[in-house]
Amino acid sequence: MAKADIPGLGELRGVGPRIRDSLQQLGIHAVSDLLFHLPFRYEDRTRILPIGSLYPGAQVMVEGTVEHSAILRGRRPTLMVVIADGTGLLSLRFFHFRNAQREQLSRGTRVRCYAEVRGGYKGLEMVHPSYQCIAADSVPAVSDRLTPVYPSSAGLGQHSWIKLTDQALELLRSGKLQLEELLPQDLLLNLQMPSLADAVQFIHRPPLGADVAALLERRHPCQQRLALEELLAHNLSMQQLHRRQRQQEAPMLREAGELESRFLKLLPFTLTAAQQRVIAEIRSDLAHSHPMQRLLQGDVGSGKTVVAALAALRAISNGYQAAIMAPTELLAEQHLRSFRTWLQPLDIEPVWLSGKIKGKARAAALAAIDSGAPVVIGTHALMQEGVSFGRLGLAIVDEQHRFGVHQRLALLDKAGTTTLHAHQLIMTATPIPRTLAMTAYAGLETSVIDELPPGRKPINTVTISNERRSEVIERVAVACAEGRQAYWVCTLIEESDLIQAQAAAEVASELRNSLARVRVGLVHGRLKPAEKLEVMEAFTAGQVDLLVATTVIEVGVDVPNASLMIIENAERLGLAQLHQLRGRVGRGTEQASCVLLADPSAGPLARERLGIMRQTTDGFRIAEKDLELRGPGEVLGTRQTGMLQFRVADLARDQALLDRIPPVAERILAGAPGHAEKLISRWIGSATRFAGV
Ligand code: ADP
Ligand code: MG
Repeated sequence: MAKADIPGLGELRGVGPRIRDSLQQLGIHAVSDLLFHLPFRYEDRTRILPIGSLYPGAQVMVEGTVEHSAILRGRRPTLMVVIADGTGLLSLRFFHFRNAQREQLSRGTRVRCYAEVRGGYKGLEMVHPSYQCIAADSVPAVSDRLTPVYPSSAGLGQHSWIKLTDQALELLRSGKLQLEELLPQDLLLNLQMPSLADAVQFIHRPPLGADVAALLERRHPCQQRLALEELLAHNLSMQQLHRRQRQQEAPMLREAGELESRFLKLLPFTLTAAQQRVIAEIRSDLAHSHPMQRLLQGDVGSGKTVVAALAALRAISNGYQAAIMAPTELLAEQHLRSFRTWLQPLDIEPVWLSGKIKGKARAAALAAIDSGAPVVIGTHALMQEGVSFGRLGLAIVDEQHRFGVHQRLALLDKAGTTTLHAHQLIMTATPIPRTLAMTAYAGLETSVIDELPPGRKPINTVTISNERRSEVIERVAVACAEGRQAYWVCTLIEESDLIQAQAAAEVASELRNSLARVRVGLVHGRLKPAEKLEVMEAFTAGQVDLLVATTVIEVGVDVPNASLMIIENAERLGLAQLHQLRGRVGRGTEQASCVLLADPSAGPLARERLGIMRQTTDGFRIAEKDLELRGPGEVLGTRQTGMLQFRVADLARDQALLDRIPPVAERILAGAPGHAEKLISRWIGSATRFAGV
């Protein structure tokens, strides 16, 4: 078919210039794009349910007669309508209403309404249901199929979306419009998934007898097929992004001078074989004239920081800057401390920048960064307005799964005046959730530190009932008397920073009272950075024996002499968090222990988690167990996945699809690269930076 025959948006009924503009703002430029504006849910208006059978949370249609209606005068007037159907009463609540509506919904009127049921002050209610008044003599039939609900954007209501998609679907059926199939035929057969055109048709207008439950959960093969395409498109776009970045010019960073050898001589330990291997990998990348795009993985305590420092030195000795960005203030400060200790003997003073640096100090930091200071360490602040690097050669991002792709790229954009692009090293804790491996990290080279520094004795972990808390306090006294240092971690889940801080402060004062000879420090998220730094420095210097902390220390704190950790209410924490926390001890040569104080009446799952913590310190095993116990949905919390916006796919729900993506992506890239481009533009379009760096 000639291109000119393809109907344009303007040819659809109801699309004038205004609507065309709004559609274009949504990335809908052609009728085929309209077909990818998918219903985000469905309403089941095929059945009228008895009011007596409702429960909060249900999305239902009911029908009843108005018993009573009144306007409640309060801060804002509310129209309250009570309907009855012989099985029960239901309130309808409207915060916005017109007078006509009020008159219409008067006693005796029969209404059919649809909404989610909620528990109100006086029994069940619906807030702003969609409704229809029904004349006694002409009761309309219920719908015979699911009603699609479209995201109401571009100022278009449901009705308009239905009209537009109706027309697009008609063009599809008549063959005037075609959707190119971009997935390999044998894959679809193998997975028993429908063709693109069939899937799209079905999702927009599920036919009679469709599997309603599957559709509502978006597990229907038609939806899964689109989810697969979408995930694939994201994977391909990340691969493309990383490939394009690699095609840029970067400074060739070769061995130069003796900074690195001096650094190694001063280092109080020798590198593990794994560290040496990954440094060699990194150095070989840095020597090329294209930007490195490397992911450095290693379990808690595996020694990623020193690898980062060596990479930074390679940039510095070549006259370039290295930037290190971390997701939290505490973690960035920890890097600052390590880098200072290591680099000051080499006469290199890191520049520090966090969001809390203001005024003159900030101006000075910005000037230093701009004029080419060799090492810059900080938080997100490094990506902010006004920061520009004179000669950025290497950007190191310690992301611990907390930065999004965009943030990582934003740092590269700061590379200032040099026409060369910076090399990039991304550090993450293992194991990487599959979702990230499949999306954000797709197409990166990978290095793994799969060995812990020598002499680490496995941490002894015990669970003790919190009824025996005083014995544990005794144990802390003994340990500190022997010159050991300890952490006391207070955990409150889902509470505010403030409440956590108060709780930790209480524990600290309790411990100060019962441990007269122990010097107790306190660190929590509400402290000012300078105060935090002071406490952490005192702890590092051995001037504080016992550090009471909230879970702010979860990430990145490194004090090797600390060899005892008490975690209160350990039964409340997930395995991943417990593992991260426990990783703060066992970093020195001292035999370390971890005491999990727990509620003896904790449930079986909590007990199983504590049991696993006792059995192993292996991050991979713990992560596996975590997945097994919690199910994939929870393991991939929003913190990790919230950065990606999907139209159909759901990273938690569509786990089973994730494993299929990499091999299919490989195949498409090798066999049909044009399809890769088309998939990316179909699903991601030009709206994101992914597509066109
Ligand atoms: P992570 O990989 O969790 O970021 P760190 O880089 O913080 O780990 O290292 C953990 C601790 O191990 C630090 O105290 C670090 O100085 C120390 N360390 C790193 N490499 C070695 C090594 N090869 N031998 C002994 N200690 C090491
Ligand atoms: Mg680290």
